[in-house]
Amino acid sequence: MNRNTIDFGIDLGTTNSEVAVIEGNDIRIFKNTDFQTENTPSAVHFDKSGTLMVGHKAKNAMEKRPDDVKIEFKRSMGLTDPQRFPLSGRVLSPEECSAEVLKSLRKDVEIASGEDVRAAVITVPAMFELPACDATRRAAEMAGIEHAVLLQEPIAAATAYGFSGDAADVYWLVYDLGGGTFDAALVSVRDGRLSVADHGGENHLGGKDFDWKIVSEIVAPRLATQYGLRDFNRENPAYRLAFTRLKYAAEGAKIELSRRPSARLAIDDLFKGTPGPQDEDVDVELTQAEYARLIVPLVEHSMTICRRTLERNRLDAGDIEKLILVGGPTLTPVLREMLKEGLKIPLDISIDPITAVARGAAIFAGSQMIPKESRQKTPVALGTLEVELAYEPITPDSEPFIGGKVTQNGAAPPAGCRIEFSRGDGAWKSGELPISATGAFSADLRLQERKPNTFSLEIRDAQGSRLETSLDSFTVTHGLGVDNPPLPRSLGVALADDRVQVYIAKDTQLPAQKFSVHRTARAITRGQGEAVITIPIIEGEHPRASRNRLIGTLSIPGHQLRRDLRAGAEIEVKIELDASRKLSISAHIPDLDQDFSEVQGQTSSQAASASVLQAELDQQKGRLRQLSLDADTVSGPVANEVRDILFALEASDALSEVEKLVATAKGGEVDAAKSADERLKDLAAELDRAEDLLEWPRLEAKAESELQHARDAVASADDSALRGQLATLEGEMRAALRARDKETVEARLRDADDIWFEARQRDPNFWVHMFHIAQEKPISAFTDPQQARRLLQEGDEALNRRDIPSLRRFVDQLFGLLPSHERGEMGPSFGSGVV
Ligand code: ADP
Ligand code: MG
Repeated sequence: MNRNTIDFGIDLGTTNSEVAVIEGNDIRIFKNTDFQTENTPSAVHFDKSGTLMVGHKAKNAMEKRPDDVKIEFKRSMGLTDPQRFPLSGRVLSPEECSAEVLKSLRKDVEIASGEDVRAAVITVPAMFELPACDATRRAAEMAGIEHAVLLQEPIAAATAYGFSGDAADVYWLVYDLGGGTFDAALVSVRDGRLSVADHGGENHLGGKDFDWKIVSEIVAPRLATQYGLRDFNRENPAYRLAFTRLKYAAEGAKIELSRRPSARLAIDDLFKGTPGPQDEDVDVELTQAEYARLIVPLVEHSMTICRRTLERNRLDAGDIEKLILVGGPTLTPVLREMLKEGLKIPLDISIDPITAVARGAAIFAGSQMIPKESRQKTPVALGTLEVELAYEPITPDSEPFIGGKVTQNGAAPPAGCRIEFSRGDGAWKSGELPISATGAFSADLRLQERKPNTFSLEIRDAQGSRLETSLDSFTVTHGLGVDNPPLPRSLGVALADDRVQVYIAKDTQLPAQKFSVHRTARAITRGQGEAVITIPIIEGEHPRASRNRLIGTLSIPGHQLRRDLRAGAEIEVKIELDASRKLSISAHIPDLDQDFSEVQGQTSSQAASASVLQAELDQQKGRLRQLSLDADTVSGPVANEVRDILFALEASDALSEVEKLVATAKGGEVDAAKSADERLKDLAAELDRAEDLLEWPRLEAKAESELQHARDAVASADDSALRGQLATLEGEMRAALRARDKETVEARLRDADDIWFEARQRDPNFWVHMFHIAQEKPISAFTDPQQARRLLQEGDEALNRRDIPSLRRFVDQLFGLLPSHERGEMGPSFGSGVV
């Protein structure tokens, strides 16, 4: 089939995946060939002989061979998290696993319809990080989907509803609770277009957590008591196998509870291969009431996210027309009750929550033109008229405009041709319309409202005979259009002092690009092994760079430089994001007239190791203790604010949540490590906030002393330009102190430091001092001892001559030869080398 538009939509879910196509007036969901279900579990298994299984077959192998079935790899997309299959010895990356799921979906389409899917819209969670989006694109490519457009899941869901519902100017809230992620998206429906006004979410909240709650809070304690087992918990490696099987069984019981008041969880010989009693068949009964109690905190958490999203936008429940439920867990009756009670927004469940995302993706796919170069072209026979159309495939307009051009063998068509459009239901025809001498034509179509409309077209020559055309039908849907998705997290560069230079702010409409000029934080000597200028690219909202997530690094190694680069040299950096959040970064160094664009580790990152997490956790605990002490030593509004923060942290149980996650991470779960890392960053950011509040009096004192410091240095440098700069700075600093504008005070502090440094640099003694520091380092500390020895020698000679400009150059070079930890000046900012 020759398609102009992508038409295929794929929901590549954490737990289940679905594929749909827009077909005439309908959306068709493809069933999988093996089990005839609309959902295909996102699971991959290799048996002993290395035979690959995907979907239900793979998931069913879970009970017997849990170690050889990989699920939920979507959570690790963009991370280096090798998926090992011990039986067969195979190892796949998370994106290779996703590629297998995509291949399986493609195959099901091919079997059902004979069509080879080469272009598709693939959905991703709204909060998916950039490396995960990149990994998704690569998975699609591996699976033979040459053209993949990414779409945020909540937008897809809203599109499914937008297609069938009313289109007044309103807000909807999409509540998407899947197997592993939760998204709350505030969707605005305005002027016939859908867009995400805001979203909240939690990358680690979903049906899986419900399953684990059943296991760890009901089933495991009961079994531990029943069989007198000590240390029978998920963190204990001895019972890992038993716990995997329990989780699998708990999911079955949970789904059953959506239909029945109670369910049983039965497993034969559960403790096989563990220190537990052998040949014991366990059987635990679970009631809906027990289950309801269990999930309250999780559902509450999801509702808090919804409420916060509304609050941020100064909306309340009354402003939201409907709550759209998406995802398997929303089939749970008690959960629906809780949402209705808790949020007071009318629920809309008119579309199956499991396939809603794939449906919406297919509708959106129907509005996406396949780029000309990726279209499957059946060669056009000589003489056939080639028709190119330009129209909006989904439009709120019921009389949309369509334009186009006809060519024949690459040239203008015969003179006097006419074109006619007819709607599929036969109730409307355009009448014959003229085609210009250059082949151009246009028309106003008439659409049947709120549905796809298929049109056929006919071209006749001046004599009225019908001519062969390359295309004879196309579809225009009357429905809500979709605006390009905004960016879910801000994107920027981490600076050497741990500040952030935001490039593309959260909620910016994509595509977007931004250009900014930085300066190198230190000199780099050409050709030196370890010396690099590091430009870390980060994603997130925290004002301290290190609190955000590192998603890539543009590294400029010394050996690629044409010449030495002085400290303070300009680096022009450009960051671009396309509509599918594909990232490109490039840098230009004007001094050298050189361009760089290779990004290292751009699309995958390592999850933090359990020991690093433990250390981080200990540190945050220490800070928390210190803060509670400090808060008691002050009074007034600041103290109250700090106490509020500490109280909220305590109430949210944040610390014990992280402790649990770190414990789980120690058992080797990359996913828990990733969660722990995220939560620790959030916790640290809250503590930052509290510390910052207490910091104000300290900051005021610091401002005074730094100013004094700079004044002294400027006085001895005796430079009128610097004196002028300092006077301006003092004025700004005073104003910022009065306004209690911490950020500006900090910025001016850095300026004061710069002025001090500048003044010091004009003082020959400074360079002598720096040279002595370099001299005192053991020669083995330098990356190139031989070169260092030479520089020290030459520096010594320059010193004897009192040749300060040369000495200064040698000092720069010597410091360039020191690895970061020896330099003692590198902040925690991902080793950033730019300011
Ligand atoms: P994802 O978007 O992560 O792929 P899905 O929307 O397919 O997830 O939801 C998967 C989750 O839904 C699983 O945790 C599964 O156990 C749960 N689920 C599926 N059907 C039901 C049901 N009828 N009642 C409750 N939970 C269900
Ligand atoms: Mg989903």
